[in-house]
Amino acid sequence: MTTFDQLGLSQPVLQALELKGYSDPTPIQEQAIPPVLEGRDLLGIAQTGTGKTAAFMLPGIDRLREADNRIPFKSCRMLVLAPTRELATQIAVSAKDYGAMAGLKVQVIVGGTSVNKDRNKLHRGTDILVATPGRLLDLIDQKAFNLSGVEVLVLDEADQMLDLGFIHALRRINQLVPKERQTLFFSATMPKAIRELVTGFCNDPVKVSVTPQSSTAERIEQYLFMVQQDEKQALLQMILSGRHPIPGEQERVLIFTRTKHGADRVVKKLGQNGIRANAIHGNKSQGQRQRALDEFRAGRCLILIATDVAARGIDIPGVSHVINYELPNVPEQYVHRIGRTARAGRDGIAIAFCAEDERAYLKDLQRNTDAELERLELPENFRAVVEGVGPTKPPPRGATRVSRKKVRPKPLGGAGGKKADGAKPKSKPKSKHPSRKGKPGGGPSAERKGAGTGGRNPGKRPGGFRKRRGKGAGGGPRRGGA
Ligand code: AMP
Repeated sequence: MTTFDQLGLSQPVLQALELKGYSDPTPIQEQAIPPVLEGRDLLGIAQTGTGKTAAFMLPGIDRLREADNRIPFKSCRMLVLAPTRELATQIAVSAKDYGAMAGLKVQVIVGGTSVNKDRNKLHRGTDILVATPGRLLDLIDQKAFNLSGVEVLVLDEADQMLDLGFIHALRRINQLVPKERQTLFFSATMPKAIRELVTGFCNDPVKVSVTPQSSTAERIEQYLFMVQQDEKQALLQMILSGRHPIPGEQERVLIFTRTKHGADRVVKKLGQNGIRANAIHGNKSQGQRQRALDEFRAGRCLILIATDVAARGIDIPGVSHVINYELPNVPEQYVHRIGRTARAGRDGIAIAFCAEDERAYLKDLQRNTDAELERLELPENFRAVVEGVGPTKPPPRGATRVSRKKVRPKPLGGAGGKKADGAKPKSKPKSKHPSRKGKPGGGPSAERKGAGTGGRNPGKRPGGFRKRRGKGAGGGPRRGGA
């Protein structure tokens, strides 16, 4: 096993790594750091969670130290472009950590914040600038910044930058940076448009790849509920409150919807049912977005509802579950969404809610990714619960008691318990996740509430997933401060 100092990094960087507590390089770091230190251009095909930020930042910092140039007026020496504001902010935090001992100045500029403040902070230039393309070009157009000092250019999550329509911005930036520079280009996928972009930006790059294209992360167990659209909210509430057991102990739960209004609606309904959650999407101000992420990260609010704006690049340790409340209509997006769990070597669980009208998306994502989703059963009497006659919704005080009809959940795509179209249920435990065996399923809240093995369905496990030793699966997230 290679160590960081064998890769040729400088003492200040090694000290910063020690402070971070990283002992060994990840595969992308092992492959990328030596050629970048030699000054080569790099094409990295890697998903988030692989440690790619350090793979470009560590050698990038050493390249700047070695060249030892002065900070250029109204310019920067290393420019890192990222698709989203959250990712840019996160990269800047890492850059500050990694560069702490090297004495490099790091700045970040993103849209949705004061342009005047950005203008002021960049007036004297900076060593490292992390930016979203739109804001960067705004400042360039206002003559508040230029790219003439760039020695190292990094494009992170290039495929998402294209998805977000930054192609023209990137082409312009390519014309403004000096020809003599080093380019480090990262993308999770390599469609044709990206290959063309690489040709424009890079000069004979060393290619490193750590995961096959579009494959879903290996450490993520993936499950599926076939559920009607109007049942999704009830199912989510039952899961989050621990009334319907799911695999794994809920720590932080990230839930994806397709639309901004959908995200707000879910938050509102959860709130009406005493479950606190925040939403993060494009209609929120930058301050609101950052606050929601901070609360999630700090554990003050353990449920976050997001649109795809948060699907890429965001690194929050301790996301135990990703729930696809609505399936994405682009298969790759599924890979990015579920990649928010299983960060930094941990395991994770992804659960998809698929309604009748989403079957095509499900088939598409199974065909285009390696996703194998194991089907889970809906709660017993679920339809009755949804219609408000089930036992989880007590009648108001003084009201006449509604007779609790037992209604079987309406089977989707055939008889109840049968496989969903295209889903590949497994009867046996997945041997590739031996580390999960014996892990308790219920969280502290499960202990508190007696949920998990309790609830309306004690002892019963959702169809098909393996029995774990210890407590039952399920248990709502710990809602600290909720
Ligand atoms: P990234 O793919 O850059 O978003 O990194 C994913 C996570 O891995 C982040 O939480 C990093 O702090 C962490 N990380 C990066 N490199 C290492 C390493 N060599 N050892 C342990 N953790 C790491």
